[in-house]
Amino acid sequence: MSIEVLPDVVAAQIAAGEVVERPASVVKELVENALDAGATTITVEAAGGGQRLVRVSDDGHGIPAKEAALAFARHSTSKLRTVADLDSIRTLGFRGEALASIAAVSRTTLVTRHRDATTGAEVLVEGGEVVQARPAGAPAGTVVTVENLFFNTPARLKFLKSESTERRHITQLVTHYAMAYPAVRFRLVQEGREQFHSTGSGDLADVLVETFGLEVFRDMLEVSPQPQPRPDLPPVEVTGFASAPDLNRSNRSHIILFVNGRAVADQSLSYAVIQAYGDLLPPRRYPLAVLMIALPPDEVDVNVHPTKAEVRFRAPDAVFSAVQRAVRYAVGDSAPARVDSADSGWGGNVTARSSDGPAYRVPGGGRPRVPGEEQMRLALKVPDPGRFPRPAEGDTAIPEGPEGPARPRTLPILRVVGQVGATYIVAEGPAGLYLLDQHFAHVRVLYEWLSEQMAAGAEIERETLRTVTVEMQGAAARALESALDVLAALGFGIDLFGGDTFRVRAVPALLAEQEPEAVLTGLVTVLTGVGDADDAALLEALIRQVCALGAYRAGEILSFDEMQGLVQQLERCANPLADPDGNPTLVHISGEDLAQQFRRG
Ligand code: ADP
Ligand code: MG
Repeated sequence: MSIEVLPDVVAAQIAAGEVVERPASVVKELVENALDAGATTITVEAAGGGQRLVRVSDDGHGIPAKEAALAFARHSTSKLRTVADLDSIRTLGFRGEALASIAAVSRTTLVTRHRDATTGAEVLVEGGEVVQARPAGAPAGTVVTVENLFFNTPARLKFLKSESTERRHITQLVTHYAMAYPAVRFRLVQEGREQFHSTGSGDLADVLVETFGLEVFRDMLEVSPQPQPRPDLPPVEVTGFASAPDLNRSNRSHIILFVNGRAVADQSLSYAVIQAYGDLLPPRRYPLAVLMIALPPDEVDVNVHPTKAEVRFRAPDAVFSAVQRAVRYAVGDSAPARVDSADSGWGGNVTARSSDGPAYRVPGGGRPRVPGEEQMRLALKVPDPGRFPRPAEGDTAIPEGPEGPARPRTLPILRVVGQVGATYIVAEGPAGLYLLDQHFAHVRVLYEWLSEQMAAGAEIERETLRTVTVEMQGAAARALESALDVLAALGFGIDLFGGDTFRVRAVPALLAEQEPEAVLTGLVTVLTGVGDADDAALLEALIRQVCALGAYRAGEILSFDEMQGLVQQLERCANPLADPDGNPTLVHISGEDLAQQFRRG
């Protein structure tokens, strides 16, 4: 073939192939135009998977009648005049080719009235040719109807997927735009049935509930912007929601990202989200996330992809780390040491979080510290950590103690609801309802704390008693006698008074409120039980016994602060799910379980 310039219609069809890949691309372009026109209500209708019909109606500013036909010319746009304008582009469209491309491969009708005009216009374009343009009465705004998509490009038509696949793409597209523009009321009708609507409340949370359902949304954590640590990097603000680690999916397609209000596919940023979870996610599982990334327009090149599905950042690393930082903070992971009780879910406000402030590791002890320590200390019956340094007042930097960051969180953030039968603590978390056994949970907390103290060689705080004399029987007396050194390391001050009589002068502070006789009896039970074990095994058995004796008992009424304190400590235990003897510390009833019980479907 010799070289010839293609006729306009053929050129337009080829160009259209880039922009209009499938029916959902039509929806995308038309919705973007409606948003650019300042619409507050956008209705999308589709039939035949969008191939037979796509109609997008908006209440935006409309097009002046004399410009209506021009909107279909290639490279006609009202949004950009010079190349330099691209640097500050705040509209979704700017190339002026969408309407031309769509009209080249369909039969397209535009009905519009500019909000300052009394009459509107109607333009009909078939296969790229304007076949009719006339004045028309219409409400302010624009309605674009696209019929018989790809009627003149049989190859495209043949490659369309099933109607249900195309419908799915359309639904996804509309819901994503509804997330990015929560103040706009979206309505999607497919095959005559309403599939989705958003309220236009301006609250992303409302859109997510509409999209994912309440059950899923309850397990999402709010992501809020974190300060940019480096002033030389551009400000990048990341907001939205990310799933609690318990809520995850088998692929990464549930990570939805928007850059300056534009849905983008960005492998690297998806990876930043996944990475933020560290090892909190099970292998090959991925989080759900809906994130709005905002940065100055001149930091993003939006003009690198035919459908603008990809963007390029001037400082990709800054964006990557901003996303990672924000998600990591929300997920609470190795937390910049938050010990906050989430107000998440359960009919409550998922977005609200009450932060109890920073926690950090104290010297010689592994216990996270929280403000309100006084109450916590009483609540937890652990020795007074008051001599350890506190973070400076108003210090919002990552509060690391001299020994490093706080212990990582191993349970979701739980909020105490109350106590049942003076034995169980009812708590709620992002993933549903939690019932804790107050004794087993407390044993677990004390056990990890005391084990760490012992391993670190810390001096265990002791409580001096008025001296109590206790008489033991033969074998018990010998067992106790041979364990006196180990007991001393644990904070006991016991000595043999002569024969089978012992004098108790001090006990670990943990056991200060117990009857010394009862404590000794408990110890002797363990000592005679372990036989002639080595010192390590003996110590382990004694640690467990001390924790069991010191822990809240079943039947003990706890104050709210005591319960909250216990829950917060358990959240950061290495093995929070059982006490050292394997008794479960908590029972989890998921939101789904509850919904099923109540037949909420
Ligand atoms: P672009 O959006 O890149 O400018 P389009 O081909 O999508 O190009 O639209 C061409 C022009 O038509 C737009 O610049 C805008 O002025 C006008 N237009 C299209 N759709 C609408 C709409 N729904 N409301 C108001 N104006 C519109
Ligand atoms: Mg456009």
